[in-house]
Amino acid sequence: MKFQELQIIEPILSALKSKEYEVPTPIQLESIPILLNGEDILGSAQTGTGKTAAFAIPILQNLHQEKQKQKSPRLIKALVLAPTRELALQIHDNFKEYGKNLNLRTTVIYGGVNQSKQIKILNQGIDILIATPGRLLDLIQQKKLTLANVSYLVLDEADRMLDMGFIKDVRKIIAMIPKTRQTMLFSATIPKAIMSLANEILNQPKRVQVSPEEAMIDKIVQ
Ligand code: AMP
Repeated sequence: MKFQELQIIEPILSALKSKEYEVPTPIQLESIPILLNGEDILGSAQTGTGKTAAFAIPILQNLHQEKQKQKSPRLIKALVLAPTRELALQIHDNFKEYGKNLNLRTTVIYGGVNQSKQIKILNQGIDILIATPGRLLDLIQQKKLTLANVSYLVLDEADRMLDMGFIKDVRKIIAMIPKTRQTMLFSATIPKAIMSLANEILNQPKRVQVSPEEAMIDKIVQ
């Protein structure tokens, strides 16, 4: 199965080609059609399976197509929450790479660094925001950004957010996002607390599961 067969648009296909991705990974094969169709997802997948592209490609494609139908101001329409600065930066890099031929702006915010540069970029108008929960809440409380226009929400590595004590912040953030949205929750493991969060925030999700043996590295070796 090739990326073309997943109905991915040309500007994204050419970006994937320049990354030398030849075939979708199992999580991408399963998730991309579900997400392009607008459904919610509960995904059990670890890092290394290609899960970032599995949610980034459909979000980029859906936002691009919405923009083509109707020009809209740059307001935050997609929010990706990640537990750590390192993961947030990686996700941001992926969005930039897969979306390099699209007219969508992405930025990343995280704690432990000066806020002023992040605020300046936010003020220029952003379509896709990747954030760690603490810094995001801080900037919301300072009224530097609003989540009132978010229609795509991703929680990545939700179990790590739980372990790191972020779940209360995550719930606070989600309460500020409109309910008419597409929600994607990815987690390496699904303990009880994550399942109950999933039940609260997902709407009739499709369950997608990729075992570690199916990770991308193995596929490439095959
Ligand atoms: P992730 O699980 O999202 O952290 O991705 C793991 C690594 O696989 C990253 O370095 C990606 O750039 C790479 N990757 C993702 N999808 C593919 C693919 N379809 N073919 C080759 N490499 C990929």
